[in-house]
Amino acid sequence: MDHDSAVHRIGDATITRISELALDAVAIGDLYPGCDTAAAQEACRFGPGSVDPRTGLLRQSIHTWLVRTPDRVVLIDTATGNGKERPAVPILHRLDEPYLDRLKAAGVGPEDVDLVLHTHLHVDHVGWNTRAVDGRWVPTFPNARYVFSAREHAYGAALAAADGTDGAIREEAGLGRMSRTPLAGVYEDSVLPVVEAGLARTIVVDGTEAVDGFAFLPSPGHSIDHACIRFTSRGEHALFWGDVLHHPLQVARPDLNSVYCEFPDAARASRRRAMVHAAETGALVFTTHFPESSAGRIRFDGSRFTWHFA
Ligand SMILES: [Zn+2]
Repeated sequence: MDHDSAVHRIGDATITRISELALDAVAIGDLYPGCDTAAAQEACRFGPGSVDPRTGLLRQSIHTWLVRTPDRVVLIDTATGNGKERPAVPILHRLDEPYLDRLKAAGVGPEDVDLVLHTHLHVDHVGWNTRAVDGRWVPTFPNARYVFSAREHAYGAALAAADGTDGAIREEAGLGRMSRTPLAGVYEDSVLPVVEAGLARTIVVDGTEAVDGFAFLPSPGHSIDHACIRFTSRGEHALFWGDVLHHPLQVARPDLNSVYCEFPDAARASRRRAMVHAAETGALVFTTHFPESSAGRIRFDGSRFTWHFA
């Protein structure tokens, strides 16, 4: 099935997926280091769209979400981008993917995008912010405002400057133990150019409406100021989950952190909160890395959470 052609409706808006990469053979222990055999067995209960039944390898995806409201064209996150130097992550290194062609096939040219909203500023969520023109990284969406967390931005800038101020930002965030920092080089080629072009608007992630029906809900841990983005139209809710979960397996095993989670204890707490919120609101949830349609709903039966693809 072509998941990019599925149209989801929330109130007055339509939501479609724009794909970048399909990841069809992810070893469970590579995504969830130290994961136990019970988790591997749990994974095998998922259908062949989510786990290869022959090998036990997980399927994932990297994509973005296009939201069209009556008066705005909005992108949620911007995947990895083409031609980015990512030697530390071979599957993302110097990509040459027809992402902009897929966006065009959905009826949207780069100049049509009004808003780019970021759940967080990791390598696979900010890449199409920029593209290479004459050897320079320039904003891909020249008419867009790019909206993201001020703290997430300050942290990226501090790590890029290597001036020792990152520790104070971590202290202020108060997320406890740190297991990693964001991938080096991403801030410089995919965030800083939109800031220098005057297109960025940094916000405090506090759950209030930041822009046109979109609220940034605090869910730190995967990154220092990760936000789940809630969109509301005519009383209906969509939740863009970013990376609070990476595969439906984590709905059954929310204790599992991905290898990419920076603050493990905070990531677990935010994951549980996000699932409770999704179950209580009945919102349609849009993920960045789940396989299949990557969209669905969370249900809670009194003892456990379950995921249902839409
Ligand atoms: Zn991600």
